[in-house]
Amino acid sequence: MSHSTLRPELLMPAGNFQKLKFAIAYGADAVYAGVPVFSLRARENGFKRDAIRAAIEYTHKQGKQIYLTMNIYAHNRKVDKFMEMFHEMADMQPDGFIMTDPGLIQLSLQARPETVIHLSTQANATNWATVKFWRDLGVRRIILPRELTIEEIADTRSRVPDIELESFVHGAICISYSGRCLISNYLNLRDANQGTCTNSCRWQYQLAVEQGSLLDTENLPENGEVYKPLQENYRLKEANPHEGRYADAEYEIDEDEHGTYIMNSKDLCAIELLSELRAAGVCSFKVEGRNKSLYYAAITARAYRRAIDDLIAGRSFDSNNFKELASTSNRTFTSGFLKRNPRHTAINYDDGDSLPTTHRFAGIVIDYNPSTGRATVIVKNRLQLGDTVEWIHPHQNVTITIDAISKSNGESVTEAHGGLEYQIPSPFEPDEYTLLRQPLAMNTTIAERTL
Ligand code: SF4
Repeated sequence: MSHSTLRPELLMPAGNFQKLKFAIAYGADAVYAGVPVFSLRARENGFKRDAIRAAIEYTHKQGKQIYLTMNIYAHNRKVDKFMEMFHEMADMQPDGFIMTDPGLIQLSLQARPETVIHLSTQANATNWATVKFWRDLGVRRIILPRELTIEEIADTRSRVPDIELESFVHGAICISYSGRCLISNYLNLRDANQGTCTNSCRWQYQLAVEQGSLLDTENLPENGEVYKPLQENYRLKEANPHEGRYADAEYEIDEDEHGTYIMNSKDLCAIELLSELRAAGVCSFKVEGRNKSLYYAAITARAYRRAIDDLIAGRSFDSNNFKELASTSNRTFTSGFLKRNPRHTAINYDDGDSLPTTHRFAGIVIDYNPSTGRATVIVKNRLQLGDTVEWIHPHQNVTITIDAISKSNGESVTEAHGGLEYQIPSPFEPDEYTLLRQPLAMNTTIAERTL
């Protein structure tokens, strides 16, 4: 089959059962969910064992696929427990396991040769020889490192055609090599490779030593010029240590002839590159963000669903899909390494938080009374009479002005507070997948946040 006729899968994160359902309702072909303790989102994982069984059954009933993430690097003490959990999960018949650790992959395949294993991006399969190695070991799919260009992906595909390739197309990026990172462990004793990262790369830092100057990355030495290594000893310290963190921890920074490496990556967004990725042989477009909001799960799934459907139908790229993605909280976007080494252009020096820009998540509909035409909404952020809100459903958005708000006892009020339930007139008959968002006065234009 020519790669340009591939029908790529849209693979969405499922941080919990509700996000899983929204991702599917808004267009996912497949979802991935973390197995407790053994996935690299150990802290934020919304799935307990029983919920995983229910999630697998639900996903299969919808005719979709579900992959279970068990991608830690295990120490000896965890190997037996890992295998116990693997057998328990395999009995539930997910469509595949996402794993990293070579030993655990081998043990799993020896124990159950029929197991479908997707090699985690964490394993850094950056070249065709490594991809071939994993194929020969029995791995079905390679989740490519984010550090590859589309050209390299195409080259790997041509040399190893009989393996599935999955590529991240959206979401947060580790500043380290696809998650192989010790920053959080070093500064806060929370190991990213055991699933407990504290996002230390995104903290606000101050220099602990302020002498001399760091290398001017705009004026790097030309070929042949001799690079003079730094003499001073620079260390980073968190500017305002949060409670529970180790206030005295310092992180040494260094530089080489290519520059100084300081952190906080922009978010990946490759929605305009899907056609090139498909032509390179990618069969699964993966979105990051198991820990992100329900609004992110819905809007990102819908934007990529529409973009993939346009691609398959031969329609041109619709820039509204990008605007929809920009409506989710983000750290501004980059296309990462897919087209080139982005160097400093991929780093957000301004803010470590993921911020709302064009819209704010306003509420979730949990009920509807056809006789009053009012929906019961769990309000996420304060709303008041006269506010413009968009009602979002998988297949439509309707914008209205709020002209009535009442509490559950029927009392009319002029504003609704975040976290509470209110009745608000709905412009259509909503279902359990209806969300509300509120446009923001934009101080950053879409154009300034492009790839
Ligand atoms: S500290 Fe940052 S780079 Fe390191 S694993 Fe966590 S998110 Fe990734």
